[in-house]
Amino acid sequence: MRILLQFPEGLKQKALEHAKRMEAEGNEVFISASPTFGACDLALDEARNIKADKLVHFGHAEFHKVDFNVEYVPYPIDAPLDLLPKSLEALNGYSTISLVTTIQHIHQLEAVKAFYESNGKKVVIGRPYGFAKRPGQILGCDIGSAASVDRTVDAHVYFGGGMFHPLGALLNTTKPFFVVEPFENKVERIDGYRDTYRKRSRGKVMRALKSCRFGILVSTKNGQHNMNLARIAKGMIERAGLSAEILVANTFDFMSLNNMLEFDAFVNTACPRLAIDDIERTRAPLLSANELAEVLRYKAELITQKNCAPNKDSQNP
Ligand code: SF4
Repeated sequence: MRILLQFPEGLKQKALEHAKRMEAEGNEVFISASPTFGACDLALDEARNIKADKLVHFGHAEFHKVDFNVEYVPYPIDAPLDLLPKSLEALNGYSTISLVTTIQHIHQLEAVKAFYESNGKKVVIGRPYGFAKRPGQILGCDIGSAASVDRTVDAHVYFGGGMFHPLGALLNTTKPFFVVEPFENKVERIDGYRDTYRKRSRGKVMRALKSCRFGILVSTKNGQHNMNLARIAKGMIERAGLSAEILVANTFDFMSLNNMLEFDAFVNTACPRLAIDDIERTRAPLLSANELAEVLRYKAELITQKNCAPNKDSQNP
């Protein structure tokens, strides 16, 4: 069988080992060397181009059904649990907590839950919706497991590596949010960032009020492609008397975007995190669809106010 292997960045160091094993089993094996951001980003074009029979995607669970033979290989990572006692200090005063993690640590969630319960906490694990598949699982763009229980808990706890995932969940919840990061041996309360992100969003909207020419980003990645939203955004912009074009790429390169000097704002329809985490990489505001709607509403209000300004001449006969 001809197989293309695909690994996220953190697992690329394991590629050779798996390739050798599969070759020894009699397969012809290729390794994708492209950046990989998630199961939203399957190397389907590469697999088709080399006429692979199968794409083996490591480290992520299925995002959605695709028209290709894809095998998903989970890559559970055992994180040390010895930070949990220290986290109790930070969680003092919060009796009901929600617990979330990434697919890499989902197998440890029951053990973490048992620890907190044995220390007097009521632990709620939210159901996933959207692209996440397991209770308590969050993705950078799918935070249902935290958001679905926001009303019923006193605080949220993310257990796992890195800040990318908890920051996504943070922005869609309202309660105190704690990160228990076992690899950096760190317990951190992060809900102060909500305000930072709100201010950054406000700043983008204000900057975009001067924009007349919008570039709308559409990714060709399987799980990020949203041409419908792009067309809706284009229609909204044009109905407001402004100009818009749809820009297509697989992975958006910010240097290339910045070279497109005719555009004075960009609208993101690809990975939602682009318009949150990467806004300082573009020379022009990079808006989410909601922020675009806000910009257009403000612009309409400004025009109306201008048109309705009292005419001095007519008031002084
Ligand atoms: S956050 Fe972005 S990169 Fe990650 S799974 Fe979602 S769409 Fe893909």
